[in-house]
Amino acid sequence: MTLRLSCKDYGFECDFESKGDNASTVIEEFGKHTDEVHGIEYSKEALMQFIMRKGG
Ligand SMILES: [Zn+2]
Repeated sequence: MTLRLSCKDYGFECDFESKGDNASTVIEEFGKHTDEVHGIEYSKEALMQFIMRKGG
């Protein structure tokens, strides 16, 4: 199953998306991007919730 976090889904006007089959990798990559590019630092717990809610 491919996990995916897209900036667009969280209200950013940005084409970045992080995807893969390893949740912690996807979370780390997306968290790094939102922190560096958008100045928003999500906690790993929050990002995990984003993934869980989407249900893959
Ligand atoms: Zn972005």
